[in-house]
Amino acid sequence: MNQTSLSLESQSAPAKEAKPSGFYLQSWQKGGLLVLLLGILYLRIWVRKQAKAVYCSHCGKKNPPHQNTCQKCAAPLMRVD
Ligand SMILES: [Zn+2]
Repeated sequence: MNQTSLSLESQSAPAKEAKPSGFYLQSWQKGGLLVLLLGILYLRIWVRKQAKAVYCSHCGKKNPPHQNTCQKCAAPLMRVD
């Protein structure tokens, strides 16, 4: 009698002990993620470079970033950033 109840307990125990198969990335997935991350980083730098041009609020002319006044109408350039 005692042995049967003991075996029942030991049988039900392992089911609860089962480890949750957590979030596991394979090596190729990690590599892909890294490449994706670098791509996003590069894209952000590229977008920032493109956005450095200053647009005149008066005439809308695109001026180079070092310019303080508009090349076309000489109005002071406002930098949004
Ligand atoms: Zn202008």
